[in-house]
Amino acid sequence: MDDCIFCQIAAKKIPSKIIYEDEEVIAFEDIKPQAPVHLLVIPREHFSSLNQVPAGKEALLGKILLVARKIAEEKGVAESGYRIVLNTAADSGQEVLHLHFHLLGGRRMTWPPG
Ligand code: AMP
Ligand code: ZN
Repeated sequence: MDDCIFCQIAAKKIPSKIIYEDEEVIAFEDIKPQAPVHLLVIPREHFSSLNQVPAGKEALLGKILLVARKIAEEKGVAESGYRIVLNTAADSGQEVLHLHFHLLGGRRMTWPPG
């Protein structure tokens, strides 16, 4: 997806602060952090949102969560707490149309979300 900003980040065609990467998953710092720890964990494969992920991708989705947990541990927020957010489609506020999980931590969060 040449016009997708997160595909371009995954391909290192545009710069980002990459925290983790392997053959399937990449994690980088959010450009506009909403918490002391704010990273985005994405699959390299392009899906516009969770709604477009086909059956058969269960392992990939689970792996993304475990990568997020590992980063939370490395960032020192695993015990204090963190939030993983997956915005999907318009009502959620999704802006970037490449599946991404937000990892937020390092401050007290409120509930319900806005
Ligand atoms: P969402 O509203 O769930 O689609 O969130 C998209 C997120 O991507 C926002 O938190 C943005 O700050 C973040 N973002 C947009 N462009 C970039 C970029 N080039 N590098 C890092 N994060 C970005
Ligand atoms: Zn993409």
